[in-house]
Amino acid sequence: MGKIISLKEMQPDQKAQIKALTASGSIRRRLLDIGLVEGTEIKCVGKSPAGDPSAFYIRGAVIALRSEDSSNVMAEAEDIVQPQRRIVALAGNPNVGKSTVFNGLTGLRQHTGNWPGKTVSSARGTCSTERHIIELVDIPGTYSMLAHSQEEEVARDFLKSGEADAAIVVCDATCLERNLILALQVMEICPKVILCVNLMDEAEKRGIKIDLSLISERLGVPVVGVTARKKATLRVLADALDDVLDDVPNGASENVAGDAADKERDDDAKEDDDSAVAQLVKIAEKVCDGAVSYSKKHDSRDRRLDKIFTGRVWAYPIMLLMLAVILWITIVGANYPSELIASGFAGLQVKLTAIFESAGAPVWLHDMLVLGVYRVLSWVVSVMLPPMAIFFPLFTILEDAGYLPRIAYNMDRAFKCCGACGKQALTTCMGFGCNAVGVMGCRIIDSPRERLLAILTNNFVPCNGRFSALIALITMFFASAVSSGGMGQSATAALFLTLLISGGIASALAITAILSRTLLKGMPSSFTLELPPYRCPQFGKVIVRSVLDRTLFVLARAAAAAAPAGLIVWVLSNAVVGEVSMLERMVCMLEPMGRFMGLDGAILTAFILGLPANEIVIPIIIMIYTSQGSLTELCSLAEMQHLFTENGWTWVTALCTMVFFLMHWPCATTLLTIKKETGSVKWTALAALIPTVCGVIVCSMIAGIGRLAVG
Ligand code: GDP
Repeated sequence: MGKIISLKEMQPDQKAQIKALTASGSIRRRLLDIGLVEGTEIKCVGKSPAGDPSAFYIRGAVIALRSEDSSNVMAEAEDIVQPQRRIVALAGNPNVGKSTVFNGLTGLRQHTGNWPGKTVSSARGTCSTERHIIELVDIPGTYSMLAHSQEEEVARDFLKSGEADAAIVVCDATCLERNLILALQVMEICPKVILCVNLMDEAEKRGIKIDLSLISERLGVPVVGVTARKKATLRVLADALDDVLDDVPNGASENVAGDAADKERDDDAKEDDDSAVAQLVKIAEKVCDGAVSYSKKHDSRDRRLDKIFTGRVWAYPIMLLMLAVILWITIVGANYPSELIASGFAGLQVKLTAIFESAGAPVWLHDMLVLGVYRVLSWVVSVMLPPMAIFFPLFTILEDAGYLPRIAYNMDRAFKCCGACGKQALTTCMGFGCNAVGVMGCRIIDSPRERLLAILTNNFVPCNGRFSALIALITMFFASAVSSGGMGQSATAALFLTLLISGGIASALAITAILSRTLLKGMPSSFTLELPPYRCPQFGKVIVRSVLDRTLFVLARAAAAAAPAGLIVWVLSNAVVGEVSMLERMVCMLEPMGRFMGLDGAILTAFILGLPANEIVIPIIIMIYTSQGSLTELCSLAEMQHLFTENGWTWVTALCTMVFFLMHWPCATTLLTIKKETGSVKWTALAALIPTVCGVIVCSMIAGIGRLAVG
């Protein structure tokens, strides 16, 4: 026990033992009545919101006392142990469940940013253990600390700076030996280390047995086994952290890990990374020898699956089929909710108009806000939200199941032939969601030349915003012509879209090949990519993650661009200069160029005004047509098709518009991201120029062929 204080001074959760009452008379009597005699153990439960009275746990009851009364009771109080603030680094190879551990420990108390002066992103979060408040720093997932890449440099510098009081190295229980190479490197740099062996459930399923205490003994650091997906198992990790943080640095020199430290000193002199790593591998082997046992068939299921997914016969058909099926599910699933949302918005528009009328608002205000801003916004939401809400979770499931790296593996040969590497297939896949995300994802490519190739060609895969528009155009002009409604129509649409996207990917490959033989000459670098075990995706988490992180994020961005764009287009179409609106002038000016490319002035204008976000191109086309035509409300694709054909669209126009959707300048967000990632205006300009030139050429060719065919 500590010093004598009055109950008034006690802090929440502090315990004390009553020593004396200083009051007399009736107050003393009352205090005795509630059991406050000498020797009574009490605990302060809390204080009222205003700070007074305070509640105390006294003999099994919670009793509130005002400070006038509690100041009359003296007690010997326990010292308050303030949890100490500490910084702990979280390290690990990629894909070992580091983010899952990080999220499990910190929950929502996280913030992300970039490492100072680097394009490497950083995440920090806080978690409380019994005795510490810990700031957990998620350092980049790397295979080594030898500082070959920016990520490794950041990770190494942070650990070397001594800012972290301890480090947790997350390892994959199913391939512990290889993960130990990184762990041994971290142990060389950081005085306090905990080895967190994650994915224990997977290891058990595969019949891998790990003697954690033997490994701990050999390494001389605490080793805890967890299944990060089950949050409760992380408790052991938090307890181990408490012990390690209170403890003196681990004496690594008496065990196997000590060898590693000694070896590094030798190697510093020799500056020979190769032999350092070779020695670490030997040590990792020694640590695991007899402590990790594999059943014979521990990865037979994965190898069987790999025979199918990456085999000679099935790999490519499955990839194409998977793409087609995902697109088909997206199209079929999106149709109905899209119509529902659109008709909901149309109903709301009628109500909004009534409100404006009853409030006596001027007509221009109504038109500007309702026909301008509101209508574009409602198009963006009703057409984009359903496909995104379906596509993103499906894509995340593939990612979670471990299929995406297989795509990179299958495609590496094709990319290598073009002078790039297979990881570009992954960033291309990311581009399906959002090109800005795809461009940012190019950080996974180590060679700067290949990274630039991937960045410059990412825009050739249509992002979600564009493929919603593509789906609409295909459904209106092609699918319905081939089959009459229902599943057949959706399947045709999916097939058509798959072909179009394959065309986009082929163009990306072709451009990559041209660039790598001209502007960006060089040999393809080496390619190492881990093919992680296949895992059953966590459907609940996938949905939450894809809806919150991706769908809503992209939708919010599109909506933020759509509202002002709607306003601008409305203003342009209503600002009349000499009898003709500015929009009409722009449309007229672009008409010849548009016609040449198989489009028209309105479509080209819409693409230009749609720079903030591709999602708003179609609504702008509609606005341009309706400001001249008769239609005032649009809620179905049939009406839209009618409007378009009224304005002279044929299948050639639709095809050229689709091709231009696939090949034109990236949206503003993507351009900004490219500028940020490359740090160069020249490359950003080129990233806009390349697809645009391709688009103009291909569209004019199609238009030319179309004219020949018709005329
Ligand atoms: P990171 O790349 O190291 O950050 O890895 P993630 O945290 O993204 O996890 C990679 C994959 O492993 C995800 O699909 C996780 O859901 C999964 N995962 C993580 N921890 C566990 C675990 O303890 N058990 C199982 N079965 N899967 C896990």
